[in-house]
Amino acid sequence: MTRKDRTEGIFSRREVLDEGERKQYYFLQLKELLQYAYRYSEDVKKRFDRVQFNVDKFNTLSDLKHIPIIKKKELIFLQSMGPRLGGLLTKDLGELRRIFLSPGPIFDPEDRADDYWGWTEGFYSAGFRAGDVAQVTFNYHLVPAGLMFEEPLRNLGCAVVPAGPGNTVGQIEIMQKLRTTGYVGTPSYLMHLAQKAEEMGLSLRKDLFLEVAFVTGEKFSESMRSVLEKKFDAIIRQGYGTADIGAIGYECFHKTGLHLSNRAFVEICHPDTGLPLKDGEVGEIIVTAFNKTYPLIRLATGDLSYIENSPCPCGRTSPRLGNIVGRVDTTARIKGMFVYSHQVEQVMANFEEVKRWQIEVTNVGGVDEMKLTIEVTSFEREDDLLHSFRQRIKLRPNLNIVTPGTLPAQIRPIEDKRIWD
Ligand SMILES: [Zn+2]
Repeated sequence: MTRKDRTEGIFSRREVLDEGERKQYYFLQLKELLQYAYRYSEDVKKRFDRVQFNVDKFNTLSDLKHIPIIKKKELIFLQSMGPRLGGLLTKDLGELRRIFLSPGPIFDPEDRADDYWGWTEGFYSAGFRAGDVAQVTFNYHLVPAGLMFEEPLRNLGCAVVPAGPGNTVGQIEIMQKLRTTGYVGTPSYLMHLAQKAEEMGLSLRKDLFLEVAFVTGEKFSESMRSVLEKKFDAIIRQGYGTADIGAIGYECFHKTGLHLSNRAFVEICHPDTGLPLKDGEVGEIIVTAFNKTYPLIRLATGDLSYIENSPCPCGRTSPRLGNIVGRVDTTARIKGMFVYSHQVEQVMANFEEVKRWQIEVTNVGGVDEMKLTIEVTSFEREDDLLHSFRQRIKLRPNLNIVTPGTLPAQIRPIEDKRIWD
């Protein structure tokens, strides 16, 4: 198989709908889902009734914002509230194919539908093709990951090695003997495999046969991608999803962000108000998968990203998530402004003499104070730094300059020490 085969082609017609068709598709899917869920899910009925949301009056996509957001941690409590996972399910447990258990603890139901978790188009987009031998290194025990990522491989006509995690030397031997062409797992484990194989004296390009990898579950930086792609001479693409929902987004060959999956409607919302934000603005990823069995309508993922709508050379027309830029719970709102660690990082990128930095927020006497500590040997660009900080983040910090090694070894980028009564 030539490398070219993996970089072209589109799996589903839904990936290339024009803007009007896409809006219509989302609207029809949502309308059907909301009507069905209101009728068959006790929890959805309760939630809609509480805010007097009338399903029959759902007329445009923007009407969705009237439905309150459901936080992931609420699922833990809701699922214990009675049969059918507290009324979240629209059918009995015995009618499902599998029931997983994720940390939380949260149960993750899997229905019998084809491509239930929706990853097939994403795996095709990443470059997996019929005839691949793919090693799945995710856990198969109780959590959905292993079996979830086996489904798209089966759909595409690949053979699966259900390796699961661990036993790195054994994994490398399998990769050698079976000439494994595909890897599925976390990026850090792929790096670990690479390092171990090199320690064993193997050449990653000559003794192993990896051509394509799908990674997820962790932050995946461009620098790590380029190291791994060079080491293996393989295409490495990432996906984004959750154990409750399955696929949310996936990369294509062009690495332009994560194309939104066609099985869900994704909004980027203000973490406090739940109101949708404009394209390009950073907010929380809120997902409604078109899943009638387990209708988690407007599920808040806790992850922060933004929508990128410029055309992609691959031809897919779906909007894309930019990077996952952080978690809602590591973001602080200071004097009413959201401060994201990635934004501070963008400012600091222009001050290479700064070794490390940290923001500390306090509220002595009820007034928010922000202290920016920077570690530098010598620093002469104080005004520059404060200026670009204020340009980007709209706030002026108290600058605290210290010598390298002063901050503790393990720090959170934003340390919120405010006390709330
Ligand atoms: Zn693309």
